[in-house]
Amino acid sequence: MGRFFVSQAVLLCLAALLTSCGQSEDNQTVDTVSEEENSTSMFAMNTYVTVTAYGNDTEAALSSAEEKIRSLESLWSVTDENSEIYAVNHSGGNPVEVSDETAQLLDFSLQMNERTNGAFDISLYPVLTAWGFTTEEYRVPDDDEITQLLERTGVEKISLDGQTVHVPDDMQIDLGAIGKGYAGDLVAEDLKQNGVKSALIDLGGNIQTVGTKPGGESWSIGIRNPFGEGNFGVLEIGECAVVTSGGYERYFVEDGNTYWHILDPETGKPAQSGIISVLVIGAEGRLCDALSTSLFVMGLDRAANLWRNSDDFEMIIVTSDGGIYITEGIEDDFTLSKNFSQPEVSVIRR
Ligand code: ADP
Ligand code: MG
Repeated sequence: MGRFFVSQAVLLCLAALLTSCGQSEDNQTVDTVSEEENSTSMFAMNTYVTVTAYGNDTEAALSSAEEKIRSLESLWSVTDENSEIYAVNHSGGNPVEVSDETAQLLDFSLQMNERTNGAFDISLYPVLTAWGFTTEEYRVPDDDEITQLLERTGVEKISLDGQTVHVPDDMQIDLGAIGKGYAGDLVAEDLKQNGVKSALIDLGGNIQTVGTKPGGESWSIGIRNPFGEGNFGVLEIGECAVVTSGGYERYFVEDGNTYWHILDPETGKPAQSGIISVLVIGAEGRLCDALSTSLFVMGLDRAANLWRNSDDFEMIIVTSDGGIYITEGIEDDFTLSKNFSQPEVSVIRR
């Protein structure tokens, strides 16, 4: 099983690949050369974040983006004793007033629970803790322990009234499966408000873009091979979000079994759906992030059904047996790497 796992999710190919996007090639070349590139990197939200902006005088916009990321991290961290999520988790069952951003994200998280028939569940934190995923002191809890912990989950017991959140005393929430996606949305908005027309935000492999590359070229996103080194393909994108979840991102092995950090809320155990990685692309980072995690839980057939009933995302799914499945909306934007050993790509159609 070992060869299936590598540590990185998505690598960016920042090298310009020419595409046929509207303008003449001459224009593209001239614009590309004349645009200044500035970037800022930081460790935030438990990952490496890089924001790259193109154009003149983007320094102030990048500082603002950096500040935005820090402020969102300080709202949503589960471990920071000053965060809003910490306050909610240690409220003793009392209502807690949160910021508009946190309330919006909680509201959206509850909606995503319904939309995914429970696969997306922000109330799994006590179970994740028992598995050691919150501290990296990994262990396999026995079935009785998991059954007891599952009694302390269930988003239907959470209530949100405007900006007032009520989480019962024995429950705890975490926004790890959605916070980076929403941060991408909010940082993109902030960059635009500060006049940036072209930018790429990379939150540990969660990608969010503003506009196109200078000159109208599309962005080229390399998609990490979940079975080994390198990329298995490249996706050409415009302004959107691209988020990947994989069993190879955080996991431990005990007695020959591999346990990863995405749990099936029904069993309280790492999701065994036959999927090894899911990439979701769409306009909204928060949607893509929530879906990347929950489609991983749902498996190929349920994921395909959800996609058929939706019009706000496309996806690429890699199954543990090496199958690659791509939805028809991005068929023309995806190129399989020549050296990837699995030549068959199945297109999921409506
Ligand atoms: P990452 O943040 O590692 O890129 P994900 O977006 O898939 O990957 O989020 C995984 C995190 O989400 C886990 O570490 C855990 O905190 C939380 N989580 C695990 N299972 C679920 C689930 N079924 N629904 C919602 N959140 C989950
Ligand atoms: Mg996610």
